[in-house]
Amino acid sequence: MERKLADADEWYGTGRYTRIDSKAVRSGETRRRPQSRPREERQPREEKQPKEERKPRAPREVIKDGKLRLTFYGAAREVGRSCIMVEGKDTKILIDAGIKLGEVEEHPVIEDSLLSEIDAIVISHAHLDHCGYLPHILSNGFNGPIYALKPTFELVNVIVNDYLNISKPKGIRKDALAKMPKHYKMVEYHEEFKVKDLSIKLVPAGHILGSAMVEIREGDNRLLYTGDISLKTTKLLDPAYTEYLNASTLITESTYSGTDDVFISEKQVMADFVKSMKETLKDGNKVIIPSFAVGKAQTVLFILDDYVRSGVLPKVPIYVDGMINKVMRIYRHNVIYCRDELQKRILMSDDDPFKSPNFHVVEGKDERSKVIKKVEPAIIVTTSGMLKGGPVVRYLEKLGDDSANKLIIMGYQAPGTQGSEILGGAKEVSFDGKKVKIGLKVETYRLPGHADREQLLRLIGKVQGLKNIFIIHGEESKQKEFATELSRKYKVTLPVLKEHYEV
Ligand SMILES: [Zn+2]
Ligand SMILES: [Zn+2]
Repeated sequence: MERKLADADEWYGTGRYTRIDSKAVRSGETRRRPQSRPREERQPREEKQPKEERKPRAPREVIKDGKLRLTFYGAAREVGRSCIMVEGKDTKILIDAGIKLGEVEEHPVIEDSLLSEIDAIVISHAHLDHCGYLPHILSNGFNGPIYALKPTFELVNVIVNDYLNISKPKGIRKDALAKMPKHYKMVEYHEEFKVKDLSIKLVPAGHILGSAMVEIREGDNRLLYTGDISLKTTKLLDPAYTEYLNASTLITESTYSGTDDVFISEKQVMADFVKSMKETLKDGNKVIIPSFAVGKAQTVLFILDDYVRSGVLPKVPIYVDGMINKVMRIYRHNVIYCRDELQKRILMSDDDPFKSPNFHVVEGKDERSKVIKKVEPAIIVTTSGMLKGGPVVRYLEKLGDDSANKLIIMGYQAPGTQGSEILGGAKEVSFDGKKVKIGLKVETYRLPGHADREQLLRLIGKVQGLKNIFIIHGEESKQKEFATELSRKYKVTLPVLKEHYEV
């Protein structure tokens, strides 16, 4: 947690880390590319340096028949910027192309010069830490197909558009967003497709609409990547599909893999949540729930709607502000990818929870001001989930200093974000230099879209023929705790950025 986010680029090759699997790392070291010197040591460029001084790239080692080479360009000992190269003898694919949001935005450490060599990209799901780098990749030489499920593409379009508008990252062609759909190749769950010599299949991951685990097969050599995964049934989604999993190598997420990461029952969490909501929802007081637009918001809204309908919570309006509304529409028309129960509810009755009369869409500044001024108890569900920006900032500016109101945080807060500052007890946070007082009550309830340690272990136990496990997408301290447990039975690696691993 204390580690500065900006350090990530210098993580590789420093030898500062406990190497859980020394053998795997050692073999990786022999293949490590020459490391560039730290910035301060670099000579200022001399004017007369001859152009040709660029060294030719060292010839890449040939990958043996039937082997796969893995290179992690992000999500190594961190949450964010998932981006893994999987190479067969003649094929290079990228699984996920994410960015990392935090104090500073970070990108995968893949060189632009490699992008044109990539045969295809597979996107596991539509969260920015898995797809936010696509515009950059498409602007800098990649020209192949991008594989994912239909709802993933629809969600990617919305959230990447929003990200480009807010973050305005450099190095992206103006038409990158418009060009993205030309590369889309829709696939269905369980449908095998080929990229040259690699066979690939996407399997439900239970995390958000359209989320998938990725199975990659080169002959008998099988690799499984979990993406972000959940083994719990939610109001919207079935859990990850864990039947018939067969792989000798697993790349697993580890967001909640620490020894303390045992989720208490949802029933208990929700009982506390309801009690707290009831305390606040009177006399015109408001509960603000910042939420990720994709996944978390839908789960929260469905729970709130149920409670209001059944009288567990008082009948107060639930205001929905920001991108969540667009995303709700995408969920609604892709309901075939949601749980059967939900489909039936919509098809067989007029009771469409996506269009619940308890939800009130807030569009634009004027409507937002009305919601803020109106003297009535209300729940406001809005973006952004880590309070880095979005409409939630406006609500905090106006309602954040009143101790009668409440802020309820239900998602992961990356270190360095305003959300994590507030959770840490900050009484003032700043947005674009503007200071906002935090006087309202702050509470957090875990409503995770990820597997906890027990679920991860259960998943791993289901994979037939498993030998190697690469742990990614988690904080390093948790990963080490997880590795200790797993290394009794498997060969475990906490990969290092940019190193190659052959499996
Ligand atoms: Zn995710
Ligand atoms: Zn993720």
